[in-house]
Amino acid sequence: MLKVFNCDLHIHTCLSPCAELDMHPKALVERALEQRLDIIAVSDHNASANVPYVMAAAAGKNICVIPAMEITTSEEVHLLALFGPLAGLQRLQEIVDRHLFGVNDEDRFGVQAIVNERGEVEGFNHQLLIGATDLPIDSLVDTIHQLGGLAIPAHIDRESFSVLSQLGFIDQSSRFDALEISKRMGIRKGRLRYPELARYAFLTSSDAHFIRDIGTATTPILLKEPTFDEIRMAVSGQNGRQILEE
Ligand SMILES: [Zn+2]
Ligand SMILES: [Zn+2]
Repeated sequence: MLKVFNCDLHIHTCLSPCAELDMHPKALVERALEQRLDIIAVSDHNASANVPYVMAAAAGKNICVIPAMEITTSEEVHLLALFGPLAGLQRLQEIVDRHLFGVNDEDRFGVQAIVNERGEVEGFNHQLLIGATDLPIDSLVDTIHQLGGLAIPAHIDRESFSVLSQLGFIDQSSRFDALEISKRMGIRKGRLRYPELARYAFLTSSDAHFIRDIGTATTPILLKEPTFDEIRMAVSGQNGRQILEE
């Protein structure tokens, strides 16, 4: 039987330079449970070291954690990659690490903390995570697909770091699995604003960088169970799985 799952598929942790330090794995999961979320995706900028700790913090609890990353492409587009197994994300991380340059300026951008499921600091990432990789969006989408993931341009309606702000259009031949509309616009307004993108599934998420923002925008998705494979079916509208739009 299918039922509706409450999904927030774009949440940062304290590993993202612009996120607050309180956004550590244990606190993040506690807030997600308070907000009655069923599925969350943890997507730091060009980084993923906190994902296993969020999964550990969620173990045995009534919430599914999707391993994810928000990669900055060479065009300065934010692209979400969502995975089933953690291994797919970790292979993508190896590629991103080879294509991301520079050192973080902690005074300017903030620290990038790796924190375990008990709230203990494991270390700091010193890469310039706020920077762009030199990976072009089209080849990155192919890479994500080869690794078994879903490729979803983030906040397409935003005036910076979005596929529309950077490229001006979405090619009808593009192989994006869905498009994310920011919470400021929401899916309903997004449909009115972008009729030419009707063939794509739309998602909306909190893009939370602060604990209080987790779950402030969610997408209800009709699934059999809370898993990545079910979400994959829903974004392509297979077997009755679907994203519910108001
Ligand atoms: Zn973004
Ligand atoms: Zn984000």
